[in-house]
Amino acid sequence: MLEFSYDALPGRIVFGRGAARQRLAGEVDRLGSSRLLLIATASEEAKARELLTPVADRIVATFAGVRPHVPVAVAEAARAMAAEVGADALLSVGGGSTTGTAKAVALTTGLPIVAVPTTYAGSEVTPVWGLTEGERKRTGTDPVVLPRVVVYDPELTVSLPAGLSAASGLNAMAHCVEAFWAPRRNPISSLAAEEGLRALATGLPAVVIDGADLDARSDLLYGAYLAGSAFAVAGSGLHHKICHVLGGAYDLPHAETHAIVLPHVLAFNAPGATSAAARIGRALGVADPVAGLQSLSKRVGIPTGLRDIGLRNDQLDEAVALIEPEVPADNPVPVTMVALRSLLEAAWSGEAEEEKP
Ligand code: NAD
Repeated sequence: MLEFSYDALPGRIVFGRGAARQRLAGEVDRLGSSRLLLIATASEEAKARELLTPVADRIVATFAGVRPHVPVAVAEAARAMAAEVGADALLSVGGGSTTGTAKAVALTTGLPIVAVPTTYAGSEVTPVWGLTEGERKRTGTDPVVLPRVVVYDPELTVSLPAGLSAASGLNAMAHCVEAFWAPRRNPISSLAAEEGLRALATGLPAVVIDGADLDARSDLLYGAYLAGSAFAVAGSGLHHKICHVLGGAYDLPHAETHAIVLPHVLAFNAPGATSAAARIGRALGVADPVAGLQSLSKRVGIPTGLRDIGLRNDQLDEAVALIEPEVPADNPVPVTMVALRSLLEAAWSGEAEEEKP
């Protein structure tokens, strides 16, 4: 019998080829904003300026000091600029770091965000903010940081290099897979996750072959939107906890870590989440979803094991001890220290349990 509760997230989505150039001005009109603070990295700014010609007269200043993971000093500088120019809305054009900077300003000012994403991070549809101070990253959830409007335009993602596209797309795929068993999952987030996986699995290999393939870029961006939406509702589970610890403690590359660990978490959880595994397989168009994920990663150039990206075998025991307290209580399969050790061992070597001698 179905039983669930669901906090549906508000927000307007405008999706389509050429949407940034053709529809953004209308969206800014709808919001009633006349003093926009543009947030974009220095390298994105020229492109942003060109496509923002229709709203150029409403951009009162540009903040280009975006840095990865939103250092507090960057957030404060952007907030000071917003106050100084009397901004009435924030327009972010860029990846997750740029969206994150706009969220940091919205968090303390309440200014609405119009987000124009240029990667597959998905932050633009979540109410989650993140700030770093020194080595420490703080995150929180506040509806005020959720962008009011998101304009998705696949043309803006054509310049994203193959490596970054693959990494960002696989990260989105991890959001989808995990959404099937994350703590706040519901039938609607699972629907979004399944359709997101299907779109990502279609777009990803095609974009790596030809980055200018706009149909494939559209599939990937649509999948990334659904992945972000599913993740925003369902939250993070075992997979994200493992990757968060590994990334933080051993400075492993974020997207590769996700891509390598994901099939192993799926293999581990599948016996307790058979319907999720079947839906993941269906979305990927394969009978064996674990092998399907591994083969997709391989096709887009991701290494097979954590050992290939810098984790040492003698760090595994410590990693297990760091991850264990983070394990979600309602994981579909109970997670013992021994099970966690063997999951990590398999992810480290890149071999499934049964393949090991
Ligand atoms: P990013 O924004 O740092 O961008 C990566 C690089 O790609 C940058 O050098 C950027 O200038 C460049 N780039 C962006 N778009 C481009 C394009 N179209 N063409 C060429 N180059 C382009 O990285 P990201 O992966 O988009 O985002 C990662 C950040 O987002 C992390 O800090 C992560 O924690 C955060 N994030 C937050 C949430 C959330 O819900 N709050 C969700 C996902 C990710």
